[in-house]
Amino acid sequence: HTKSIGRNTYSYFTHAMNKEVSRRLAIEEQIHGALERGELQAHFQIQLDIRDGSIMGAEALLRWNNPALGNVSPAEFIPIAEQTGVIEPMGEFILTRALEAARIWQNKFNDNFRVAINLSPRQFRNPNLVQSITDQVNTFGMRPEDLELEITEGVLLSGHAYTLDALKQLSDAGFCISMDDFGTGYSSLSYLRTYPFEILKIDRSFISDMNKDGKSNELIIATIEMAHALGIRVIAEGVETQEQLDELSFMMCDYAQGFLISKPVPFDELLEIGIHYKEIHENLATQENPIP
Ligand code: C2E
Ligand code: MG
Ligand code: MG
Ligand code: MG
Repeated sequence: HTKSIGRNTYSYFTHAMNKEVSRRLAIEEQIHGALERGELQAHFQIQLDIRDGSIMGAEALLRWNNPALGNVSPAEFIPIAEQTGVIEPMGEFILTRALEAARIWQNKFNDNFRVAINLSPRQFRNPNLVQSITDQVNTFGMRPEDLELEITEGVLLSGHAYTLDALKQLSDAGFCISMDDFGTGYSSLSYLRTYPFEILKIDRSFISDMNKDGKSNELIIATIEMAHALGIRVIAEGVETQEQLDELSFMMCDYAQGFLISKPVPFDELLEIGIHYKEIHENLATQENPIP
């Protein structure tokens, strides 16, 4: 009897493993040429300034839709793009989309809007990274401070000789460097000492655990205070409820990003949010200062 359970378990696992392996192989196969076939898109997620309720900027996030695989999440394909090197052209693609978007938004709404992109370890192995980012920003007639570059601990751990150098150059040139997924790594504190971060993004696991274990709140408060003492501003990631946003505001958190404010959306939808937001504010303004 036990033997047959064992056999079923075994075949269940091999089946699951085969499925996983074959999906991975299919992703590896399909990821080449995905860009050329027009399967990639940029989505944008709004970043809210908690203090005055204004839209501070947006993070650009890659989306991949493939005829055979359907929608593949970045969590699945970014690591493979990284290993195979296709992250390089993908990184240029998302930067272009991001700068286009920021320029249009700035012309339509406000000049301080900033766009964020994620940079991965592989991109830092390219000695031309700083130059190619600078060139693209110049091509679009944008300023370095219009672009936020998000890096995770993975970039710093890879420990390539160029990394610190590249980050210093980018920071000196005026780009905004931010530490993504803060709190999930091994030695985030020492990175804050070494690297020129302007923004720290508290990982969404801390936000989703707020008011659950009693410790997340204390860690968030301490992180915000520490960051502010270092002159670093803070974005809370994964804000899903009004309660979380209210609490973060009370904690003096600077910015919020999450489904409560908006999901990542295509650029035309981002513009609709901008138009809607502008109308709300114009209405508020006319109510506050009624025309006599
Ligand atoms: P990330 O940079 O930390 O991006 C935030 C992720 O959290 C996004 O997942 C976003 O959709 C998700 N998110 C935002 N708000 C909420 C929320 O309220 N609740 C929940 N549950 N999730 C929320 P996404 O788009 O699947 O991206 C996953 C990761 O893939 C990103 O994490 C980033 O590390 C990477 N990635 C995405 N696009 C790019 C890219 O263009 N280049 C590179 N190098 N990495 C990218
Ligand atoms: Mg990010
Ligand atoms: Mg993050
Ligand atoms: Mg993440």
